[in-house]
Amino acid sequence: MFGFVKNIMTYMRNLSKGEEVLSDRRKFTWMFVGFIIIHIASTVFFSILQNQLLVAFHVAAILLYFGLISLAQKKHFFACSFICAIETLLAVMLVSFTYGSLLGYSLYCFAMIPTVFYITSSVKSLKYPNVTRYGFSFLTMLCFFTIIVSEPFFTIPDVLSARPILTLVIRLFNAFSTFLYCVVFSILFVWETKSNTTQLQKRNQQLVEVARKDPLTKLANRRSMMERLNLSMHHLQKDAHPFSVILCDIDHFKKVNDEYGHDCGDKVLVTVADSISSQLRDTDFVCRWGGEEILIVIDGRLQTATAIAERMRSNIENMEVIFEGRPVKVTMTFGVAQAELTYRIEDLIQLADNRLYYGKEHGRNQVVSSDIKD
Ligand code: GH3
Ligand code: MG
Ligand code: MG
Repeated sequence: MFGFVKNIMTYMRNLSKGEEVLSDRRKFTWMFVGFIIIHIASTVFFSILQNQLLVAFHVAAILLYFGLISLAQKKHFFACSFICAIETLLAVMLVSFTYGSLLGYSLYCFAMIPTVFYITSSVKSLKYPNVTRYGFSFLTMLCFFTIIVSEPFFTIPDVLSARPILTLVIRLFNAFSTFLYCVVFSILFVWETKSNTTQLQKRNQQLVEVARKDPLTKLANRRSMMERLNLSMHHLQKDAHPFSVILCDIDHFKKVNDEYGHDCGDKVLVTVADSISSQLRDTDFVCRWGGEEILIVIDGRLQTATAIAERMRSNIENMEVIFEGRPVKVTMTFGVAQAELTYRIEDLIQLADNRLYYGKEHGRNQVVSSDIKD
């Protein structure tokens, strides 16, 4: 029992934080359970008042709501909303035209509006939400005003004057139920908004990831690298904070694809990317620049960047990728350049690319960090 209450409390807490979503089936089920309770109480009240017609009406309504609960499980939400709204208005009219508004049944008109608005805006699969929302709000208003306007013209049955305590109990019960419905649906509305915002934030986060990352290697993409390069350039110009870039490319990668297949090429690329990332410090930044080209920003001067590149080269040279039981080995060539105040970002990358090209032309599997010409 204690565990059940604890579970409900956790569920409510998660709902309030927007971490849990109240399913449409549950929404309808709980709403109808509430209506069943109100109708059971009304059956008791009208039995005491000995009004057989209203007792029969409320008993039939209880059976109807059990039917609606099972209809809601089959997701016939439009039919559920329609039948429930008509039944509520009918009950309000029937009781109010029999006893006037003394018993407080006309108050349910006020609970109808937030309920209809909540249901029509939160149940996504509901057909014609606007027609339902405004149509029923108008009908409810019409019903309420009909009761208000017609009331002075009919006499209130003596049975109520004879039983003031019972009248008060019924009146209080209906006022409390109306109040409860208004409060609960307003809270649910807020929770639903929170949950939608949380989901939207999560989706935004995923989109940012997709927009900034390469899906295969999970490295940053060219777009985020450009942002980082602009920032590093800004720090260089403003605070003379040095930075360098390393542009590297897998040697004879085409051969890997040709000999072992594209999937093997992909696996090699991911392993190389992981190996390079593992060598970097928090202040460095790495991206997949092109097909099998990786660009790295090193927070430091040329010597630091060259040393890091050399470590990366040696690691990759000694690395073995096992694909379908076969060992695959690759090497990489690196071009390193330090940014100067006079450089544009394109100039810096071009310089690193020239050095990479030099390395490719002069035997590959090496780090080139100066413009030595033979
Ligand atoms: P080099 O040593 O001169 O760089 O020779 P290379 O064969 O590596 O260079 P080339 O530019 O001729 O070929 C690069 C190959 O990289 C061709 C392309 O199919 C392959 N490649 C590019 N992106 C991917 C990828 O995402 N997955 C796989 N498997 N292959 C890729
Ligand atoms: Mg290559
Ligand atoms: Mg290439």
